[in-house]
Amino acid sequence: MEKVYVFGHTNPDTDATTSSIVMANLERKLGNEGATAYRLGKLNKETEYALNYFGVEAPELLEEVEEKANVILVDHNSFAQSVKGIEKANILKVVDHHCIATDFETATPLFYYAKPVGCTETILFELYKSNNIEIEPKIAGLMLSAIISDTLLFKSPTCTDADVKVAKELATIANVDLEKYGMDMLKAGTDLSDFTADELINIDSKEFDANGLKVQVAQVNTADISEVLKGKAEIENAIKNFISANGTDLFMLAITDIINSNSQAIVLGNRVDVVEKAFNVKLEDNMAFLPGVVSRKKQIIPVIKENA
Ligand code: MN
Ligand code: MN
Repeated sequence: MEKVYVFGHTNPDTDATTSSIVMANLERKLGNEGATAYRLGKLNKETEYALNYFGVEAPELLEEVEEKANVILVDHNSFAQSVKGIEKANILKVVDHHCIATDFETATPLFYYAKPVGCTETILFELYKSNNIEIEPKIAGLMLSAIISDTLLFKSPTCTDADVKVAKELATIANVDLEKYGMDMLKAGTDLSDFTADELINIDSKEFDANGLKVQVAQVNTADISEVLKGKAEIENAIKNFISANGTDLFMLAITDIINSNSQAIVLGNRVDVVEKAFNVKLEDNMAFLPGVVSRKKQIIPVIKENA
């Protein structure tokens, strides 16, 4: 039995964590008994809520993989967002819904399955169906949780008809009231009370390259932006420390109001002009309000890349 590490990106969100569990489960059902789910960081409260609700244990933490380790990536492909040692690992499969990063490379042929949908789980659902594998209720619950999370209960512009259709089927299998469970789960994720400013900027943070600039975009969900801004001074200090430790050119924290679908951005670094140009705003006190912006993937990263 050959060990296969299955994991999502660093600073795992609900999709990264549940997709690793769901993909490892599928692999085992297909006879790949060594497939094991891992996470590349601390779980957020939303994911903890979902795992608790459906009675599924969290995957173990993975810090590094050895040379030639067999791995399967879900919900990411960029090496900058992957495990330490990924450059020398043997990537067997990727199931993802992000653009293919410039730092992704393999030495051997692989199974690569990507679709422009709102969540990795929507693609995994299709893989279960095409392989005639039955989806158990608790697995369905995890898949549903990730779709709700990635699409902000279907309100994000990344959401497609396929995501809605799959989520409805999964809610039936998991036997939950989609709207009620979805709101409860999203709200659980907005409880930021236990997080230090340092942790807060790392809950859901991604690095990417924009025309040679090292850009970091972090995002937190809230039901009340002003509540998060009470800690603005500490947050700014944490961001400044991150920038000097990592040589980041531009750091943007999007504080996203999941009720009204807007974001407040805190922007620091030596290239904040890129954000001003991208969103046609003037930063005041290192901040800009971005009406209607909720998706990092569709509404933030592409415009930063275009204007860098
Ligand atoms: Mn993700
Ligand atoms: Mn995702």
